[in-house]
Amino acid sequence: LLDTIQGLNDRSEIHGILVQLPLPDGLDSHEAINAIDPMKDVDGCTTTNLGELVSGNERLVPCTPRGTIAMIESTGTTFEGKTAVVIGRSILVGKPVALLMLNRHAVVTLCHSRTPDLGAEGREADILVVAAGRRGLVTGDMIKPGAVVIDVGINVVDGKLKGDVDFESAKEVAGHITPVPGGVGPMTRAMLLENTLIAAKLQADSASES
Ligand code: NAP
Repeated sequence: LLDTIQGLNDRSEIHGILVQLPLPDGLDSHEAINAIDPMKDVDGCTTTNLGELVSGNERLVPCTPRGTIAMIESTGTTFEGKTAVVIGRSILVGKPVALLMLNRHAVVTLCHSRTPDLGAEGREADILVVAAGRRGLVTGDMIKPGAVVIDVGINVVDGKLKGDVDFESAKEVAGHITPVPGGVGPMTRAMLLENTLIAAKLQADSASES
């Protein structure tokens, strides 16, 4: 796997590489991801690109978090001073989403499986991002009226895709809400293409400088 990634790093006509997770047992995902040239890291998951994000420099940002921000912005919602609650603290979704909103001056709360009262946190949120992978975790009574609700969760129930938010009760309260399927998933793929373009430009700039 490492040899394959190195081979792709070395090919100038390849602009983007991502390691599809989970990897089979015995392969180290951290090592594999960090073998990717950070300029070709179109999923923004290398330690280098995540470090850039922590530093406030949004170069190649993970696709799902990037799509989440794009969808919130598409509603005309601004972030500055807003209460934003993220449920889920994974390195792929929850933490980058929280950092992106923090960079935009939202007041961010990051919730996880040890959060004592998710409903109380949710009811404070002008912007609520749910990425826990738990079907129906968030119901309408946990949402502030008029809030923007982004449902990142994907759960397969009887062969059908369902989100983490109970759409029927939530849509009565939320100002804006994304469906599953048809919400975050397609945006993630669009952001992957945009990141590939950004990566190609970074590589072209770097080649012209050297
Ligand atoms: P993950 O690595 O399993 O992380 C789940 C997070 O949710 C953890 O931080 C966990 O808390 C938290 N959590 C779990 N149960 C909870 C509960 N009952 N209350 C509060 N927090 C809880 O998952 P992920 O990779 O972030 O993905 C999350 C979901 O998004 C999954 O359904 C995944 O399939 C989906 N997803 C969708 C896309 C897309 O393109 N649409 C992309 C990526 C992921 P702890 O840290 O305390 O364990």
